[in-house]
Amino acid sequence: MAERVAKENGVEEIKYLALTVGELSGYMPIFFEQYFPIVTEDRPLFKDAKLVIETVKGEALCNECQSLYNVMKHEGTCPKCGSREKTILGGQEFALKEIGY
Ligand SMILES: [Zn+2]
Repeated sequence: MAERVAKENGVEEIKYLALTVGELSGYMPIFFEQYFPIVTEDRPLFKDAKLVIETVKGEALCNECQSLYNVMKHEGTCPKCGSREKTILGGQEFALKEIGY
């Protein structure tokens, strides 16, 4: 995807890629850190490219008592009232945020 964008803009070298990865997206930042060098190895475009990962906390609003809490930390259960009924507010995103060149 980044390669396509770069080509469209006539870019010859990418300096960095910034990804936004939510805690609840199902993607692990470590996965990208480990595979990025392997994936970019044979692509001159990415020769000196750095991977910048911005993680977004998984936050939810309890439907019972309206408290805001971190879903990962509390395993999906409201720390205040114990309810699992919630509205996810953030942390589900996974996007290529920026390409630096
Ligand atoms: Zn609650």
